[in-house]
Amino acid sequence: MLERGEVANSWRRERWDSLRLLTPNWQSRLPGLRYEGPDPDGYMTMGEVTEFIERFAADSRAPVRTGVNVTSVRRADAGYVVTTNGGEIRCRAVVIASGACNQPSVPPFATAVPESVEQLTTFDYRDPAKLPDGGVLVVGASATGVQLAAELQRSGRSVTLAVGEHVRLPRTYRGRDVLWWMDASGVWDQRYDEVEDLTRARRLPSPQLVGTPERTTLNLNTLTSMGVELLGRWAAVRDGRALFSGGLRNMFSLADLKMRRLLDTFDEWAQANGRDGEVGSPERFEPTRAPSSTRLQLELGSGEIRAIVWATGFRPDYGWLDVPVVDAKGQLRHEGGVVDSPGLYALGLPVLRRRKSTFICGIEDDAREVIDHLTRYLAMRRSS
Ligand SMILES: Cc1cc2nc3c(=O)[nH]c(=O)nc-3n(C[C@H](O)[C@H](O)[C@H](O)COP(=O)(O)OP(=O)(O)OC[C@H]3O[C@@H](n4cnc5c(N)ncnc54)[C@H](O)[C@@H]3O)c2cc1C
Repeated sequence: MLERGEVANSWRRERWDSLRLLTPNWQSRLPGLRYEGPDPDGYMTMGEVTEFIERFAADSRAPVRTGVNVTSVRRADAGYVVTTNGGEIRCRAVVIASGACNQPSVPPFATAVPESVEQLTTFDYRDPAKLPDGGVLVVGASATGVQLAAELQRSGRSVTLAVGEHVRLPRTYRGRDVLWWMDASGVWDQRYDEVEDLTRARRLPSPQLVGTPERTTLNLNTLTSMGVELLGRWAAVRDGRALFSGGLRNMFSLADLKMRRLLDTFDEWAQANGRDGEVGSPERFEPTRAPSSTRLQLELGSGEIRAIVWATGFRPDYGWLDVPVVDAKGQLRHEGGVVDSPGLYALGLPVLRRRKSTFICGIEDDAREVIDHLTRYLAMRRSS
């Protein structure tokens, strides 16, 4: 196992200070290791996640070589040559587990933002004190964007949030964590070959959730009540002005509708499986409140906005992969983790084999099936 940094590198280096997992502690489970502390319904801090993964690496005696950066993987003979800063390795099979979130994804028009406005991605952001004084524009309203907008607004700044397509979820539903429902009802176990629109499912943004000791729900209504101004999707920059789409009301209705449908699924599951007695009564939540009017433009050079935080998602980085298996959008071509090149496999990508594939609790089932395929492939090669 080659790791360019340290064990749990992404959790150590690529997250902001206040972040906690949005999955509850009882859901932090890896093969042979599960959370056994006093707060199963709590959410781990970054330090705790790092310790958890370090412990897994030690307990499982994973043969990790840290500080080894893979700079190229290419086909050779009947296998692969892996080039690293520590030399070359020849192997018959390679599992790509380099992560789905190696780089922040920022729209190309970011280059047209005037220099007087500081721009940060979620890889640069650590805490509000590091930003220049003045207003902040947070772009993106998925888990990261809503968390940072709330934190910045609480720090006394004036925050504007550009909202694109998003997934709204309550933190708790009928007295249980919403992720308990995803897990228990089987929604998270839905297999990739049963998902109606797989391409879309793989592109779905992370849900608006935050892990706090109080188990608070954080959504656009919460942010509006805090004083955050909501704008539509940031579409372009023209002559120093940021242009935003209208239609916030439609976007909100869609997210509300999808949330209601998911809650209906939970209710139907609870009823069909005789679980109604263990949980609270069905709940329905206030629709997302649309502002009476929204601004469609912002003058970026006016001084109103001093910093922009891009919370517009992440993408993988396969710059080191010299095998033609990456599509025009920069995504790996694979079928349930079996990459389009013999002996090449992937793990840890969105809906790789199940809806839960990119979560800590999702890796065990996926890894078992992908490694089954890999061992069959090696056995077949040996016998041929
Ligand atoms: C902001 C954020 C919040 C999240 N919150 C949660 C959560 O609450 N609960 C949850 O279950 N999941 C959460 N996730 C998903 C999380 O990423 C996964 O659960 C998990 O970390 C994925 O592990 P991984 O090993 O597949 O990828 P990563 O953690 O990204 O690990 C990939 C590793 O590969 C290394 N690497 C990459 N390229 C190379 C190379 N060329 N050579 C050598 N090494 C390389 C990297 O250094 C890195 O350590 C979150 C993700 C993000 C971005």
